[in-house]
Amino acid sequence: MASATRQGPAKADEAPATAKFAVENPATGDVITEVPLLGARDLRAMARAARAAQPDWEALGFEGRARVLRRAQKWMLDNAERIIGVVVSESGKTHEDAQLADLGYTVAALGFWAREAPDYLSDERVPSWNNPATAGKRLIIRYAPVGVVGVIGPWNYPIANSFGDCIPALAAGNSVILKPSEVTPLSSLLMAEMMRECGLPEGVFQVATGDGSTGAALIGEVDCMMFTGSAKTGKSVMKAAADALISCYLELGGNDPMIVCADADVERAANAAAFYSMNNGGQVCISVERVYVEEPVYDEFVSRVTDNVRRLRQGAPSGVGTVEVGAVTFPPQLEIVASHVRDALEKGAKVLVGGHPRSGQGRFFEPTVLVDVDHTMRIMQEETFGPTLPIMKVADAEQAVALANDSSYGLQASVWTSDVKRGEALARRIEAGVVCVNDAQINYTALNLPMGGWKASGLGTRHGANGIRKYCKVQSLLITRRALKREPFMFPYRAGRTLMLRRFLRLLYGRGSRD
Ligand code: NAD
Repeated sequence: MASATRQGPAKADEAPATAKFAVENPATGDVITEVPLLGARDLRAMARAARAAQPDWEALGFEGRARVLRRAQKWMLDNAERIIGVVVSESGKTHEDAQLADLGYTVAALGFWAREAPDYLSDERVPSWNNPATAGKRLIIRYAPVGVVGVIGPWNYPIANSFGDCIPALAAGNSVILKPSEVTPLSSLLMAEMMRECGLPEGVFQVATGDGSTGAALIGEVDCMMFTGSAKTGKSVMKAAADALISCYLELGGNDPMIVCADADVERAANAAAFYSMNNGGQVCISVERVYVEEPVYDEFVSRVTDNVRRLRQGAPSGVGTVEVGAVTFPPQLEIVASHVRDALEKGAKVLVGGHPRSGQGRFFEPTVLVDVDHTMRIMQEETFGPTLPIMKVADAEQAVALANDSSYGLQASVWTSDVKRGEALARRIEAGVVCVNDAQINYTALNLPMGGWKASGLGTRHGANGIRKYCKVQSLLITRRALKREPFMFPYRAGRTLMLRRFLRLLYGRGSRD
């Protein structure tokens, strides 16, 4: 367990430079190592180094930066076993979960941003002829790196959701300081080693290990904040960013609904429900957290999901293919999951599989399926973030959409039906940043498709054009080559010219007002 305090007042200044915290393997309970708890003074020094290094990194240009990112891509593949080993050891997740997201996503993202950054960030010409004041002038949009980007990450994807967000910031020509979760800092330290070996200049990418106070200290040192974590911490980060007057992007929690219509492929939907609620131990911001099934297929769906979940193997992952469901990474999460299940049972829910923390070594919660659930229960209203799947019978898709939208969160959702036209129509009525039809989660791998939350699930998006432009300052350039000595609207003001300009306005814009 990471023994340092998480949130709370920023005490980083008082922390002695030698302060350290322990990193634990959640699947075994063993302490792996200790890492430094950095304070405000350390952060100031890191920011100075980042600012000094940034101009040369920017000056390398897209191709120079892409070369480093492509080297890192190869390094990750050459060192896949080592990377997966580190992620598994500090998160307790399975080798497959680490491979699919922390390795697979990140390898793809290194190539994607190396290739696409010039397309998203090269100068853009916009038309000037449609406005008489600018006709004949050159109008250019330029994307310049903000300077130093701060990234704060969570523990559930120690590489994909921490280093992953640094890649577009680096591709845009920024320096980056990453503050990983205190629960899983070792994967980020490995990424720093990788970037050094791949020739990234000193100071361009640094990792600030520490707790919430380290994260709070980082915000005052950077030009832009990218935060992934809980809604509660996201609010503190946004307040601090407001004080520093810097831009701030938040990727927060979710409570993703899945709607299964009567005409769905029930077998596929049930397999997907089991996988997308339990992969990574259910510790995925875009996990299926609640399911609404139309009455005619409810019994078949529940029976298929139950059979599937009952067969899942759980335990300390000892190699590839050994278990499907790993450990609960963050110590307090075990009690959150248990309390949601207890609350549901007290209010009338029934457990069909699992339902308890596992006794013995390590920290595990049994893969759990619940029925007879409703919206008075915390498991339907809050983010559980564990291997649980509550399933609710609904009269029709209308009721399902209303229940799906009855949430403070709006990260992702899915609709399952063989009528994809109707599925898309239902998807458009769901209040979430991403909605899949006959799929879930896989959208995260479409790096050209924006991903971000509505409502309490966040502000801003990652991936796509905005996923890299958000790390830039926009500069507009207006360039005049040939012009009159004096424009008609310049001094001195003369009644004749004023009235002529008014007639000109009527000529230009008067047509629209006749309708
Ligand atoms: P958390 O909010 O507790 O911590 C996230 C990070 O913030 C950690 O590095 C922590 O040290 C730091 N932090 C804590 N207090 C801080 C402060 N006052 N100022 C600055 N930084 C501070 O979240 P967590 O428990 O690590 O992660 C789980 C949450 O993350 C879940 O809600 C999950 O849904 C969410 N998440 C969202 C996405 C997404 O893309 N939307 C992805 C992964 C995880």
